This record gives sequence, structure tokens and C-alpha cells, in this order.
Amino acid sequence: MAKWGMVIDITKCNACYSCFIACKDEYWDNDYPPYSAAQPRHGQFWMDVVKKERGKYPWVKVAYIPVLCMQCDNAPCVKAAKSGAVYKRPDGIVIIDPKKAVGQRQLVDACPYHAIFWNEEKQLPQKCTFCVQRLEEGRIPKCVQVCPSQALIFGDLEDPKSDVSKIVASGKTEGLNLERKAKLRVHYLGVPKLFIAGSVVYGDLDECAEGVSVTLTEQSTGKSTETSTNNFGDFEFDGLGAGTYSVKLKCKGYAAKTIHVDLKTDKYLGVVNLTKRP
Ligand code: SF4
Ligand code: SF4
Repeated sequence: MAKWGMVIDITKCNACYSCFIACKDEYWDNDYPPYSAAQPRHGQFWMDVVKKERGKYPWVKVAYIPVLCMQCDNAPCVKAAKSGAVYKRPDGIVIIDPKKAVGQRQLVDACPYHAIFWNEEKQLPQKCTFCVQRLEEGRIPKCVQVCPSQALIFGDLEDPKSDVSKIVASGKTEGLNLERKAKLRVHYLGVPKLFIAGSVVYGDLDECAEGVSVTLTEQSTGKSTETSTNNFGDFEFDGLGAGTYSVKLKCKGYAAKTIHVDLKTDKYLGVVNLTKRP
């Protein structure tokens, strides 16, 4: 039997919200017994796109993180449910029974990912079902079908030939909120880490310094990465962990410069002036 899972590549998401709209189209005013009752028109985001702002002016980046039910094993919502109102299917999908769960508002607070929404009219907690009714017809979830940038990849985690299995096996994926103990069936690529960026100018010319060699060295491991400044004199190292780093700038005809960085949050080093050698 398939064990369904999803990989979300954050680096490919451009916040077009097609997935959100497709989800609304599939579930608004549509019942899929025994898996889900119709989603209300407003106030529910079974597939949400969370914006994460990174850095501060003048070096700001935004990551868009699609978030939905993680279909956890050992799911907190299953534990919080009364009368077996939430259960995990053998294929890994967690279902809130739309009849048994009526009145069980405690389920909304039970989900650490805020993936359960309260339907005031029906007095019902509701969430993503991985489009189980479509899977049973051999179709993929609607959000995956419509994503124009292939940021959402869906498949059988038990099938070593599936794209999701291959990506997870690569060891590059991670879960959101790693401190949670539940095993998640939604995996992420490109979860934002920290960056160090800067802008380099020729001090004598007051011009952008293009092609300056920039070497980043992590002090604890001695591991180095190299890049060079672009035509605006800018450089950036992304995907870094917290720690102590040195940034060394080298350019022919100018004095080398080393900057030490104690990295705790995203860091823009500002404008760095190179001094011409005598
Ligand atoms: S993400 Fe939330 S709603 Fe989904 S299975 Fe886990 S605890 Fe339940
Ligand atoms: S459809 Fe794809 S690219 Fe658009 S917001 Fe959703 S995940 Fe991101």
C-alpha cells in the first residue's frame, strides 16, 4: 500500500497562491463523505502560503513557505480527539471524521502547525486531507496539480522510484519545527537559514567593485566557500548556520580585507571600502 507524502521546494514557490485557490475550488461548497465536509468561503487555509521576511533594510529577502497539514505519525490531533474522531489511515493520511468531530473545538489548538480550522456554522474542525477523494480516483492533490513552478511534489514514500522518495533519500529535506517529535509526511527543501551579504566599492574611485574574490570561512570547522562580487559589487552567502565566520575580500591592486562575523541573525555587512595599494 502507498504511504503518501509531499515534498515542498521553498526555493521554487513564488507565492502565486494557485494552490490556495485550487484548494478552495475543490472544497468550498463540496462535501466528500466520509472524509471532509464543505469548506466555508472564508477563514480557512488548508493550504496556506506563509511569508518569511529575512534580513533588514537595505538587504531584505522573502521566502514563501506553503504550509498544510503535515499528516503526522503520532499526530497530536489524533491524541486530542474524543470518540476516535481523528484517525490515521494505513496510507498515512490523517482524517478528521466530519460527523464524529462535531463540537470538538479542542482539535484546533491541538495542532502545532495551526493546520486545523474551525467551521463556526457546522461547529466542526477541518483540515487538508491530501485530497484523499482524488487519490482514490488515481488523481493527485489539486494543489500539486496546479502549482505552476513544480514547488509541490507528491507521491508514494514507500516507492523508491517515486520522486518524493528519491528527494527524501537525498538527505536534503527537513521538517518544519524540528523540535516536534511527530514524524511528518510533508518534507521541505530549501528551508531558510541565515545569510551574510555585503557590498564592496573601490575606495579611491567610489565605484562598485565587480569581481572581487570573497571567501567565507566557518571558524569552528575551517570550511571555506568562495564567491565573487557581481556588477553592483554585491555578494551573498546563504544557507548558513549560526556561528563565527570570517569574510576575506581580495582584489588585485587593493589591500586584502578580513571581516569577522558572529552570526546569530541574517547579516548585511554594509558597504566595504577597498583601499588601493600604494
Ligand atoms: S499537522 Fe496538525 S492536523 Fe495535521 S496531522 Fe499533524 S497535528 Fe494533525
Ligand atoms: S501554487 Fe506553487 S508556486 Fe504558487 S503559491 Fe502554491 S506552492 Fe507556491
